[in-house]
Amino acid sequence: LTGAAAVMLAGCAGGGTGDGGATEGGGDAAGRACVILPDAASSPRWENLDRQFLQEGLEAAGFEADIQNAQGDKDKYATLADQQLTKGCGVMLLVDLNGAAVSVAEKAKAEGIPVIAYDRPFEGSDYYVSFDNEEVGRLQGQLVLDGLEAKGVAPADAVVVYMGGDPTDGNAKMFHDGAVEVMEAAGITPAAEPPGVWDQAKSQTNFEQALTSLNGQVDGVWAANDTNAAGVIKVLQDNNLTGVAVSGQDANVAGLQNILLGWQTGTVWKQVNLEADAAIETAVALLNGETPEADAELEDGTPYIQVTPTVVGPNEVKDVVAAGGYASYDDVCTPD
Ligand code: BGC
Repeated sequence: LTGAAAVMLAGCAGGGTGDGGATEGGGDAAGRACVILPDAASSPRWENLDRQFLQEGLEAAGFEADIQNAQGDKDKYATLADQQLTKGCGVMLLVDLNGAAVSVAEKAKAEGIPVIAYDRPFEGSDYYVSFDNEEVGRLQGQLVLDGLEAKGVAPADAVVVYMGGDPTDGNAKMFHDGAVEVMEAAGITPAAEPPGVWDQAKSQTNFEQALTSLNGQVDGVWAANDTNAAGVIKVLQDNNLTGVAVSGQDANVAGLQNILLGWQTGTVWKQVNLEADAAIETAVALLNGETPEADAELEDGTPYIQVTPTVVGPNEVKDVVAAGGYASYDDVCTPD
């Protein structure tokens, strides 16, 4: 589809038919894209990157964007969705929050509204648009191995702690499976595996306890994102433990700084603009009655469109800065 065709087709999909068209308050419900983001704290990406790239991309495709954030609250998620559906949605792009998207998808589907699982999988979506999330995990596992090699510790002898993501997020298992595949093939066995979270403070507490149980010894940490890595790194700093292999994800400003300062081996950069574009393209195609081509399938058969992640170490931080819209030179190079 060309940009011009996308604008016209997304805008006219429900217009002029007399049903599912204009609703009170102005605007065309079929041309409104309803988006719900999960929270702000588990990663700065949602408010800093996804919101901006989705807003710009949806408007460029001719949609009116209605982007809300559930702030980590499942009840709020349901209320926001009801408000959006009352106003009217032509398509919904939902980032799941602990299963909250499932009943929203049911309601939307009952109204014939296409539903895209954006970034996180959940039951009942038409399409799942995300990154290749097992590959994200494999790149993280490789970062841990690289960090151990730099430390001069053989994987089979290394004390490695696994700091996974919140298991209520369907992505967490994919990151875990990919990371474990690479680390365990190299001979790593986990020394400790605290409960998965997407939370810096909890990650810090969990890692502190793990470190105590390991008598203060650690060579590597598989951290499933930069937020978890930041909690871990605070503990490493407090204990003067330098040279520990630490992975991450998202290429947050804090993560990039930790990489430049030597506290984090690297991160997995997910170019959210590409993910947003892929989701919007999928939405437009579904509204046109087309069947977008998928790269894979979830276990329940949902078509899965995968964007490719990129690994970032100290030498690639400049690429993230140069890409624009992610982290400016000043943000990264002038710590608070
Ligand atoms: C996303 C990550 C993010 C994490 C916490 C995951 O589902 O894929 O990019 O860091 O959630 O918000």
